[in-house]
Amino acid sequence: MDQHKGNLFILSAPSGAGKSSLYKALLKQDERVRISISHTTRSARSGEEHGREYYFSDVETFLDMIAEDAFFEHAQVFDNYYGTSKESIFGMLEEGLDVILEIDWQGARQVRQLYSEAIGIFILPPSLQSLEERLKGRGTDTEEVIQRRMAKAIDEMSHYNEYDFLIINDDFDTALQQMASIFVAMRTKTPVMQQKHDILLNDLLSL
Ligand code: GDP
Ligand code: ADP
Ligand code: 5GP
Repeated sequence: MDQHKGNLFILSAPSGAGKSSLYKALLKQDERVRISISHTTRSARSGEEHGREYYFSDVETFLDMIAEDAFFEHAQVFDNYYGTSKESIFGMLEEGLDVILEIDWQGARQVRQLYSEAIGIFILPPSLQSLEERLKGRGTDTEEVIQRRMAKAIDEMSHYNEYDFLIINDDFDTALQQMASIFVAMRTKTPVMQQKHDILLNDLLSL
């Protein structure tokens, strides 16, 4: 493992735009990428496992963690608390791994203030209709929850301009390729390469 610190990525999108599907596919094809596992007070959906998608916790435990300053950032979304613990990201970044935070725009603002190098990626659906169809097709939420998430979607999408990269998730493979190339490009920036390949650069520049 090289000694260079990994990059911190913020991935946001309205619910149902495909951010979970995209990061899961990216994790399978890029061994240098990790996802930060958030804490949440919402209940687990069927198929979700404690410690894989989220650390599911009760409100009391969550509030204790806030009091102990254990969170890097936290926010209230859809009546539930969500938060990223400090522990879940800094160890991996130090190891040189790229870490994805799957968080909403409020969390993204907090993270940018705390960590200005964070790179923001926003995922958009190709239309509102397809967003609703995907939420329904996922089969994990009730009709009432879907309608609330649709109402919230426009508000969430209005923050797209706060992000460095925009991906429209129409054809999945195209969107995945676009996302993967952002990760590669960020590792190829001159300051990163200078630090990683300092010996080579010295050799190349000396007679
Ligand atoms: P999903 O949008 O369908 O994946 O539904 P979730 O219940 O998993 O997430 C709801 C919202 O909470 C999304 O906008 C997430 O980006 C956001 N979220 C998840 N984890 C965190 C977190 O650790 N911090 C913050 N601020 N937001 C989070
Ligand atoms: P999010 O994490 O943003 O809430 P998901 O990744 O759960 O979204 O995607 C919502 C639903 O849309 C899932 O059922 C997923 O399989 C589907 N989906 C994701 N991307 C696409 C795509 N490009 N075309 C069609 N369906 C998609
Ligand atoms: P599945 O194989 O069930 O479609 O998708 C689960 C995959 O998510 C795992 O195989 C793995 O590639 C990926 N994954 C790895 N680490 C994490 C993680 O921390 N959280 C989540 N949600 N997925 C992960």
